[in-house]
Amino acid sequence: MKLTKKVTVDKSRGEKLVNTIKGQFNMLHSMDYYDDYEIEKMLLKQKELELHYIKNRFEFPKQYVQFSPSGADKCSRELFYKVNKATKDEQSSYPYQKRWTRNSTFVHEAVQRDLLYMEKMLPNPAFKVGRITEGIAKGLPAWEKNIQKYKVITWKGETFVLYGMVDAFLDYKDGSKVGFEFKTKSVTVDRVSKLKAPSISHKKQAIGYSLLFSPDEIVEGQPLVTPTTLDEYIIFYESVAKDEWRAGNFAADDMKAFYLNVTEKQKITLLDKMADVAARSGTGEAPDRKTSKCMFCNYKTICLDDVTL
Ligand code: SF4
Repeated sequence: MKLTKKVTVDKSRGEKLVNTIKGQFNMLHSMDYYDDYEIEKMLLKQKELELHYIKNRFEFPKQYVQFSPSGADKCSRELFYKVNKATKDEQSSYPYQKRWTRNSTFVHEAVQRDLLYMEKMLPNPAFKVGRITEGIAKGLPAWEKNIQKYKVITWKGETFVLYGMVDAFLDYKDGSKVGFEFKTKSVTVDRVSKLKAPSISHKKQAIGYSLLFSPDEIVEGQPLVTPTTLDEYIIFYESVAKDEWRAGNFAADDMKAFYLNVTEKQKITLLDKMADVAARSGTGEAPDRKTSKCMFCNYKTICLDDVTL
């Protein structure tokens, strides 16, 4: 009964949150407005700080094995090679692929700008971007490098570091904080309009964020979901490719949003995976291959040559 109630509550809250954020984008993108002096000044300050981040690299303890939420769904064997600093394949990306990622990066920036303009242009927006309250990024948006952090975790006797950053933390009108992770797809608009759920890798990334950004310490045997953990995430997709200009009301949906409320079990599964790779990095025993993950793996050569399995 309790579980059914929780699932129903999650579903209706999730639907409300994703409809609201998508509605905010659609409302903003239906309006004409002028550039705002204060917002543009803030974005300029953000750019200045990004120069600082280029010169002053983010530091975290190097004596431990390191993981990041973006690698949460990777093949354990790939993570094993990475933590052992194995030789990577020679990079072989094509120029058009670089242009593909370059275009997505600029859409990413445009979305951040939209989030700030929503706050000014929409009447009573339910979501606003959180702000940094101290340090060199004070007053700037709670996003990306402004909020990058690491956490030293001990799990199943293994100590490792989890580090990373999330696209943004949004403040919802009821006082809660919701993580916002933005993803683009580039090939055809159908890749977004036909999406029924977020990809497993993006879900696992959000699970990693919940472990990293929750203020609570991670202690084995104690609850991992508490009133203070940051467990709600919106995974937001936009297709860089759009429907035909003339499609109008019949245009395929180029934006989709999904809600995830991270559970105790999901956190434990990810912690177990990281602890297992950390333990193997000590013994040198590589995990099994997961060949469904090979496409984006940079260790194909060493994996193929590795005859330990
Ligand atoms: S090549 Fe495939 S199986 Fe081997 S480490 Fe990479 S993802 Fe895993």
